[in-house]
Amino acid sequence: MRVVLATSNPGKLAEARAILAGSPIEIVTVPMWLGEVETGTTYLENARLKAANALRFVGRPVLAEDAGLEVDALHGAPGPRSARFSGTAATDATNNAKLLRLLEGVALRSARYRAVAVLALPNGEDFVGEGVFEGSIATEPRGSGGFGYDPLFVPDGERRSAAEMKPDEKNRISHRGLALRALVAEIADL
Ligand code: IMP
Repeated sequence: MRVVLATSNPGKLAEARAILAGSPIEIVTVPMWLGEVETGTTYLENARLKAANALRFVGRPVLAEDAGLEVDALHGAPGPRSARFSGTAATDATNNAKLLRLLEGVALRSARYRAVAVLALPNGEDFVGEGVFEGSIATEPRGSGGFGYDPLFVPDGERRSAAEMKPDEKNRISHRGLALRALVAEIADL
């Protein structure tokens, strides 16, 4: 099944393509303006909003994903607002700097990434997969791989940050890998 991935995030696109290689889902991209549709309060709501918006635009199966970082010492923030944690002009660098500032001197550094992936079909049906990636927040950024908060995110059982892991190592255990593989299992009977 050829599906359009509704994202403008090149990091997500590269990971989704690699994770779904060899699955029945082939990702294609079309230039589209997604607009600011992440007005929901949950990952599922936001993923469905992104999928519905893109589906109206392209009229063919769409895959959308919403993800975020949940930090226990910040009561689950930034959560679904992870991309805009440091404001409307946020970048990965300003988000990471804000996170480090808020956690200065904080010993409890456990956190997790969560992702919800939605495959929406033109007939109105949709399929959902979810994934969680447990870890902790380092005291300084390390590595140049991945994207977003990866230089600060150290997966449980690892000494390296997610940005120091090879892409396929991260994809095997990441929230995105789990969510997309759960989705593939969901559609196995289609
Ligand atoms: P959204 O799903 O487009 O709303 O954005 C999710 C945001 O969460 C990204 O912009 C990153 O800041 C963060 N995020 C989600 N997944 C990852 C990941 O795998 N690595 C690093 N940051 C991530």
